[in-house]
Amino acid sequence: MENASKHRQLSKGETLSPISGLARRTVESPLIPGFRKEPRPLLSFILRVLDGKHAQMVRQHLEAFLRFDFQISTPERDVIQRRLADDPALISNAVDGMIAGMREMADMWIDSGKSLLNPEADTPADRNVEDVQPGREYSLALLIYRALLRTEPAYKELCRDGSQKIIEHFPRFDPQQFLELDEMLKAHGRKWAAFYFSRLLDSRDSLSLSRCDHCKSYFAYERARLRKVKHGVFCPKCKGTGSVKRTEASRKARLDTATRAWIEYGGKPHRLNQREWVAGEVNKSHGTSFGARWVSQHLKEIQERVEAQRNAKG
Ligand SMILES: [Zn+2]
Repeated sequence: MENASKHRQLSKGETLSPISGLARRTVESPLIPGFRKEPRPLLSFILRVLDGKHAQMVRQHLEAFLRFDFQISTPERDVIQRRLADDPALISNAVDGMIAGMREMADMWIDSGKSLLNPEADTPADRNVEDVQPGREYSLALLIYRALLRTEPAYKELCRDGSQKIIEHFPRFDPQQFLELDEMLKAHGRKWAAFYFSRLLDSRDSLSLSRCDHCKSYFAYERARLRKVKHGVFCPKCKGTGSVKRTEASRKARLDTATRAWIEYGGKPHRLNQREWVAGEVNKSHGTSFGARWVSQHLKEIQERVEAQRNAKG
């Protein structure tokens, strides 16, 4: 009888796991420190890691989990634990690793939605984990596989109704023979960054994360912006400030010159092709040093302006 009532208390989806305690602590349980009341706790936490001003929060988080890790005693772990106790500054390697790792992943993710031809154009819907961007040797997918998904165990668990789900461990500190302790700690921090960032990627907030083209700070939109932005992404602080307005004004002035030059080019013989000649005219007026490539990048806008001027005259 007692047994039967106990069974009734189990919901249909509850797992019957033999693994308990540590293995069950996932992000769904209150793992993110101090963010239980945030509407989007994971995104808020990641933004705080990214801004670099919350190193103390990152440190407390890492230390709390390291204490769990060191509950399992091995001679190797005991040596490491003593070294960490003797030199509290060592832990900053893990903090740095987590912040740097999070920034690298955020940049790779955000940049995958930028146009290669025009870095001011941003289309979040184009973001993907497979691109290998210029100047990088690996994709975001490969980074997350290496740092987390291929190295950290995940378990399949049976639910009462026979259905199954995957249960992840939170990242554990993993002493590696061939690394110095500071390198081990850095890798540990990066693994935690991959843990959280991979969860963000798998959530509806993945497209909300953005980076300001002006001050380079990370921020999030209330709702993910899906449409393309052509002239730069700016955080709420920079938007409408003098410097962004000046940038926009000089951009407009250059395009006006380019439009005038584009129209002037026709009818006269030239040694240079049209894009080279137009770039030269813009450089003369604005002290820039653009090549034909700049004209190609802005060709659509220039042609739209040429069209608008012709329509206004005609
Ligand atoms: Zn900004």
